[in-house]
Amino acid sequence: MTRNLLYMTAPVREGFEIPCHEIGPASNHPGAALVGGLHGDEINGIFILSRLADFLKGVEAEKYPDLQLLKRVLIIPAVNLLGVNLRTRVWPFDKSDLNRMFPGSTIGETTQRIAYSLLEATKRAELRIDIHTAGADFEELPQVRLYGPSEEERQSARLFGLSAIMERSVSPVFTTTLMSAWKVWPGQSFLLRVGQAGTLQLEHCQRVFRALVSFLGRSGVLAGVRIAEEDEESLLFTKENVCRVYAEKAGTFVSDRQVGRWVRKGQELGYIYDSFSGNVIKRVEAPECGLLTGIRRHPLLFEGDLLLRVNRKE
Ligand SMILES: [Zn+2]
Repeated sequence: MTRNLLYMTAPVREGFEIPCHEIGPASNHPGAALVGGLHGDEINGIFILSRLADFLKGVEAEKYPDLQLLKRVLIIPAVNLLGVNLRTRVWPFDKSDLNRMFPGSTIGETTQRIAYSLLEATKRAELRIDIHTAGADFEELPQVRLYGPSEEERQSARLFGLSAIMERSVSPVFTTTLMSAWKVWPGQSFLLRVGQAGTLQLEHCQRVFRALVSFLGRSGVLAGVRIAEEDEESLLFTKENVCRVYAEKAGTFVSDRQVGRWVRKGQELGYIYDSFSGNVIKRVEAPECGLLTGIRRHPLLFEGDLLLRVNRKE
């Protein structure tokens, strides 16, 4: 079933709505709630969730005789609907960040009403997943992010079968995110970071689509999922395992390395060139042995820009 999360009127155009998929057996609370596109330019998550909704509707229509939905799944692929249309991260009318509007309110500005409706629809779900990407300049390895997790969340994070789980403490600064609003409710909350904003990375999307199906299978939402044995080992990384490399010089950064590869300390990962003369200014090396979990994709650099991130195995 497709319903609308919220209907809104706009100043000089027709009203618009945020569509939402509800799939599987009826119940008071969803077994799982999945949210994407809080930021309008984060296309990977929007694509993954729209494909997942299509797949689960196929399950509901008995297209896959082995599979059965045991619990209701709620999917909202694109919360910042107008941002998606205009290819902007923020809400286009007032440039506000929808992920700084929680818990929202019923009488506030449009963005606050969206936040309120989204939280109402998702907060009672047993499992909650919010999908993001890095910014438009940087690519992140598809990963699970945990914020001040419970032991259950730590264990469930492995059910995705993604290679990296990043644990962070709950931010004392960003208390108005969907994640912090979810955390006060019973149930489990996960954030997935997938690739780079502003583009669609098919390989990452396919990887995370499979991860979500595995997760729904292993957590008892979707019965009959055959779990692929090729799943990588999930490694838990804390803040202490992170090594970042920043640009010592401005210039043009070029790298053909892919995220998700293990690198040796001192291994060449890219070069900074002088943007005018073309001379190599700097050979960029891995700071430690570890997993390359993020790399800059925008070539133009200012001094101090983040180039890459390597996570050490404990
Ligand atoms: Zn985001």
